[in-house]
Amino acid sequence: MEDIEIAQQNTPEPIEKIATKIGLTSDLIEPYSHDKAKLSMAALQQLNQNPAGKLVLVTSINPTPAGEGKSTVTVGLADALQRRGQHPVIALREPSLGPVMGMKGGATGGGYAQVMPMADINLHFTGDMHALTAANNTLAALIDNHLHQGNALNIDPKRIVWKRALDINDRALRETVIGLGKPANGEMRQDGFDITVASEMMAVLCLATDLEDLKKRLGQILIAYTKDRQPVFVRDLKVEGALTVLLKDAIKPNLVQTLEHTPTIIHGGPFANIAHGCNSILATEAAIHAGNYALTEAGFGADLGAEKFLDIVTPHLSKAPDVIVVVATIRALKYNGGQALAELNTENTRALEKGYLNLHRHLQNMQRYGIPVVVSINRFTTDTENELAVLQDLISQEGLTSAVTDVHERGGEGGLDLADFVIEAATEEQSDYTRLYQDDRPVLDKLTTIAQEIYGAKDVELTSKAKQQLRLIEKNGWDAMPICIAKTQYSFSDQPKLLGAPSGFTLTVRDLIPKLGAGFIVALAGNILTMPGLPKHPAAEKIDIDRNGHITGLF
Ligand code: ADP
Repeated sequence: MEDIEIAQQNTPEPIEKIATKIGLTSDLIEPYSHDKAKLSMAALQQLNQNPAGKLVLVTSINPTPAGEGKSTVTVGLADALQRRGQHPVIALREPSLGPVMGMKGGATGGGYAQVMPMADINLHFTGDMHALTAANNTLAALIDNHLHQGNALNIDPKRIVWKRALDINDRALRETVIGLGKPANGEMRQDGFDITVASEMMAVLCLATDLEDLKKRLGQILIAYTKDRQPVFVRDLKVEGALTVLLKDAIKPNLVQTLEHTPTIIHGGPFANIAHGCNSILATEAAIHAGNYALTEAGFGADLGAEKFLDIVTPHLSKAPDVIVVVATIRALKYNGGQALAELNTENTRALEKGYLNLHRHLQNMQRYGIPVVVSINRFTTDTENELAVLQDLISQEGLTSAVTDVHERGGEGGLDLADFVIEAATEEQSDYTRLYQDDRPVLDKLTTIAQEIYGAKDVELTSKAKQQLRLIEKNGWDAMPICIAKTQYSFSDQPKLLGAPSGFTLTVRDLIPKLGAGFIVALAGNILTMPGLPKHPAAEKIDIDRNGHITGLF
């Protein structure tokens, strides 16, 4: 059965009832229809008075075309914790329309471990993504208007670093020319689009702690350099107030529920390959204080999302994770071990053992942060008992606990073992969070630390453009910020085809981009693009709606 068919068979409870579960009266939420609501700023303040619960970070091995299921496991684990009498609250990212219409699919879980209303969440939801796109492009229009109206700030049109954005995979917009035509149409210059989820607007929204902090961060965004190479910021245009107004509702986290009515907060959606990959700080803090278990997921493999959660986001949170759950599938490990995609349904313990090196390295990486680790083997119906036994044995040889989870087929019921292990780890083991690097280290040091310690690289090479950018960053004193590496999600390396656990490679960084509003430096590694394209057969070809508004094909 398609995910959407399962979702359509379930009726959400009124959102007021879900709010009650986290102690919020109806005046503290702002409903968007019957099954979605924004948490008001007063609600966030009230929640923050509550004691902090345990924080569980869900991450995974490197993604493959075989599917891993982090969101599915996050949702199923929360439902299982609820069945065990706990009070879990989930904090997830909002899906981007790019992959919904393109290749990957949505981000509301799958099977019987889903968040409702899945079609709304995957499409326009409460409009946050559109508000971000509007704020991003308002800023772009204000910059071009400034040039047109006399350019009092002396901005060099060739040194504008702020791009336009759209939340659609549209390769034709990667490089554009704007201002064509008459002089009244503005200055002609080269421009380009990023996907909204890779934009600094998105990062700023996710890292802001309140409206004031949002405005401050927006004001700090670097937009261009003058003709004499001085940086120009949003605050120089005096428009941070207007941009904050555009985001006044988008900053409020959204409350929804799982199929089993577990409270779920969905807010912010940066990709983890080209951005920092974690939902908003406001949503995670709300979840930490709204129940006794907060579950959050960081995008793609643990080399990307989890590393960024732990090194960029955690320092801003009131607490570090108490447990990390690493999700792996037999199929994906066999694929990492060289088995062809078309043959993944056939038992192959040799490929499994070979591909296990990928999971092994992720497990070692997560343990170095000093946080207890539990493994979830997300079971597919094609997995054999033999394969499951081999994998569990390999994991136990590392001294770690693993649970076979079946939440896709059985909902929370299929995640009870995992829930028990997570409760045990959270209550009996000590989390002793240690960051990988300190922000005051030189940029190249920080880059090399991530590349060597997490990716297994031999060294890091900067292209001449990246070297030039590094000098600029150092000259302006912007170097004491964390690093957000943008690279392929498919490999530990910057080369998508290097599966398993490659080592001895050189990580090539071709650009370093200071994101002063977000407060990190983006390092573009390999051929990663900040505006994805659509595949030959995009998901859009399968999506349809009938005269009664009944949607099909949404996964
Ligand atoms: P991730 O969060 O890692 O990107 P998702 O949880 O979104 O992965 O799952 C991706 C897709 O795989 C979804 O369509 C989901 O229904 C499917 N999926 C996840 N787990 C399973 C499973 N155990 N069996 C079958 N399909 C699954």
